Amino acid sequence: MRAVTVNPGVADSLRLVDDHPEPPPEEGAILVEALAVGICGTDHEIIAGEYGEAPPGADRLVLGHESLGRVLEDPSGTLQPGDLVAGVVRHPDPVPCPNCAVGEWDMCRNGRFTEHGIKALPGFARDRWRLQPRFAVGLDRALASVGMLLEPTSVVAKAWEHIERIGARAEWQPQTVLVTGAGPIGLLAALLATQRGLAVHVLDRNTTGPKPGLVRALGATYHTVPVSELDFEPDVVLECTGAPVVVLDVMYKAAPTGIVCLTGVSSGGRTIDLDAGALNRALVLENNVVFGSVNANRRHWDLAAAALARADRSWLDALITRRVPVEAYAEAYTSEPDDIKVVLEFGS
Ligand code: BGC
Repeated sequence: MRAVTVNPGVADSLRLVDDHPEPPPEEGAILVEALAVGICGTDHEIIAGEYGEAPPGADRLVLGHESLGRVLEDPSGTLQPGDLVAGVVRHPDPVPCPNCAVGEWDMCRNGRFTEHGIKALPGFARDRWRLQPRFAVGLDRALASVGMLLEPTSVVAKAWEHIERIGARAEWQPQTVLVTGAGPIGLLAALLATQRGLAVHVLDRNTTGPKPGLVRALGATYHTVPVSELDFEPDVVLECTGAPVVVLDVMYKAAPTGIVCLTGVSSGGRTIDLDAGALNRALVLENNVVFGSVNANRRHWDLAAAALARADRSWLDALITRRVPVEAYAEAYTSEPDDIKVVLEFGS
């Protein structure tokens, strides 16, 4: 069968192979036919040879962690043939650490977790794959064209859950949210913010393309000025750019008792001047919290599925700016200026 693979650590080793073995039964009881995978910055880093790890004993890794498929067979009875399904990306470490032991693998403490399409587990960019029931998330059948957005939505569902848990440390009535970066993660974070009835502001440097319209369609406000020039102090910030200056600016900008959630993975290597004492003072004197958030556990995937089912379908569709058939895979993995989410489709 077909699979999109790379040789991790080797730049530009991306290939479509057509003789990839069928998924072995050990992978899970649920057999799924691939419909699509979404592509994100992590895939680009893996293709550049900067990230990613092949399964033990293999030199190639199948890409694809933002999955959508249709169930072919499920002897466990968890799902029905024809159901839409996505696979949870991260699997717990084998020790397991205290967090993985209770299903909170997104908070793995020893780094020995594995991730489909990223770290030591084959990805979902192949014609068929298998899932264990606990890693199979069923989707509303109406989400057939957008269900591959479930994985990035699970990441922001986790971020929002942790923001709310941190907020509960004291009386907390947030009103204003700032999202920096209007890529898929930023836009989905803004969607979940509007679903919470908050006043949402999204900041991005793009003045043209689809982003301003998508933000306004949520009833949110779009900004292109530097963070320091915004005329309000947000109660919550979801930082989704990973850009060092933006990261630093939002820490200063947050309102007293504000919470800053960092989701952007910076590449590192760029240094900027920082008055660490002044930043410390600003955070301490305002009881601010800055925290990082990555990945998602089963609870967050289920929250994400509910959030997508509630969202406006045409808005979700508009996040997908290019749909590329698997035969033209190289085009899908080449970024274009107005891309938001690019999807690789596995038709017959
Ligand atoms: C994925 C996460 C994963 C992270 C680090 C992100 O692109 O969405 O599921 O944990 O990369 O590998």
